[in-house]
Amino acid sequence: MIEARDVRLSFGQTPALRGATLTVEEGEIVAVMGPSGSGKSTLLHCLAGILVPDEGEIHFDGARIDRLDETRRSTLRRDRFGFVFQFGQLVPELTAEDNIALPLLLGGARRADAVAQARPWFARLGLDGLEQRRSGELSGGQAQRIALARALVAKPRVLFADEPTGSLDSLTGEQVMDLMVDSARAQGTTVVLVTHEARVAAYADRQVVVRDGRVHALARSAS
Ligand code: ADP
Ligand code: MG
Repeated sequence: MIEARDVRLSFGQTPALRGATLTVEEGEIVAVMGPSGSGKSTLLHCLAGILVPDEGEIHFDGARIDRLDETRRSTLRRDRFGFVFQFGQLVPELTAEDNIALPLLLGGARRADAVAQARPWFARLGLDGLEQRRSGELSGGQAQRIALARALVAKPRVLFADEPTGSLDSLTGEQVMDLMVDSARAQGTTVVLVTHEARVAAYADRQVVVRDGRVHALARSAS
């Protein structure tokens, strides 16, 4: 469903991707591992239409998204993709409920409908009672679960997660990963998960490793 073909991208003189190729099937959860600076985030940003490669192709649903202009790519991201990053992605001025509803509001939903769709996520992710909290009043794990709900509320085709547990202790990180995997599977969302933690990567159906800007296959994880 989503594919990078021989993607090359440099930041000035620094090559970040040097011929990266990766295919992700619909419904699959793929972990992208590799050392710091190897190009994991850059690859994720290319797959998600945030960055455009210097060379190579990015396909989503059979279409070349690297050929779309920025307006069309941002529409694609809003309508089809969800994102979870390592840190502080909640809008601090908004309540937890409004943070989750935000993608629906940006997609044109009426406020009452958006809030009604946001609500069930509180019970689903163990966040009951936190609806009116702002991000400063949430623990790191709570904030990351709100961010996860916001990434999934519009039922994206693909969830892109870049070090989603990187700011959490290991128990809280495992809780977030359990919820991410269960929620994604429940709604058939494909997941591209960037992590340098083997324990986190073990949640995936398949693991690949990025080294020096290229993607290498790893054995299917046992589970
Ligand atoms: P990873 O996520 O695996 O740690 P990145 O994809 O962030 O690696 O980075 C790959 C390489 O590209 C590194 O050498 C990094 O320093 C460089 N890089 C990444 N983003 C930028 C940027 N915005 N400007 C300049 N260099 C960058
Ligand atoms: Mg990174």
